[in-house]
Formats: sequence, structure tokens, C-alpha cells
Amino acid sequence: MDCIFCGIAGGSVPATLVYEGERVVAFPDLNPQAPTHILIIPKAHYASIQDVPPADIGIVAELAAIAQELARARGIWPSGYRLVVNSGPQGGQTVGHLHVHLLAGRQMMWPPG
Ligand code: AMP
Ligand code: ZN
Repeated sequence: MDCIFCGIAGGSVPATLVYEGERVVAFPDLNPQAPTHILIIPKAHYASIQDVPPADIGIVAELAAIAQELARARGIWPSGYRLVVNSGPQGGQTVGHLHVHLLAGRQMMWPPG
């Protein structure tokens, strides 16, 4: 399967990992939208959050736990941050491998674009 994030998780596509665990990796976004912009992904390929089967839905909690850990380690709490999971065409998803964006370091606006 030709998936760029599977390549990063597997080590065949270069990325600077800021976290690596048994089931999750995190790395900086190539095109950052904030001073801190990290992508947190499962090593397993799920095309979107909608494709995670009930039996493995705990992986979404693992992604959230790593976001907490990174926010703590990088001092972006209590200032705050935004977690984004773009999903499907109207959700603005462009890479078909589940990922959580961790954005921080500037004031976030609402509504999102
Ligand atoms: P999304 O639009 O939510 O699917 O987000 C995909 C994100 O992946 C975008 O913010 C891209 O900048 C980012 N991206 C694409 N390829 C790479 C890569 N090789 N390394 C790091 N980030 C990437
Ligand atoms: Zn993948």
C-alpha cells in the first residue's frame, strides 16, 4: 500500500519523530500552521477515524494521551492547544491515514475554515 504515513511509521519515509511508542508515533507537520504543529498517528493503517473498528477504538485514546504528554513536555499547557482530526472530503482530510493535529503557540480562531 502506498501510504506516506505508513512509510513514516515504518521508517522508509524520513521524518523527525518527536515520540515513538509501541503503537503510536508523532512528528512535525511538513507545512506547519502554528509554531507547534505535530501529527500524532497510529502505526496501524486506518484510512480515517471512521475506519477504526470498535475493537481498536482505544487507539484514539492513545493518540489523545500522547497529545497530553507532548503538551505537558513542551509547556504548551496551560496556555492551550487545539487537536484536529480532519475526516473525509468535507472534513478537509488530505492524507488517508488517521492522524491528530496538535496545534499550539498562537491564538486559535473560531469558526475554523
Ligand atoms: P490533513 O489535511 O488533515 O489530512 O493533514 C495532512 C497533513 O499532513 C498536512 O498538514 C500536511 O502538511 C502533512 N504532511 C503531508 N506529508 C507529510 C510528511 N511527509 N511529513 C510531515 N507532514 C506531512
Ligand atoms: Zn497508512
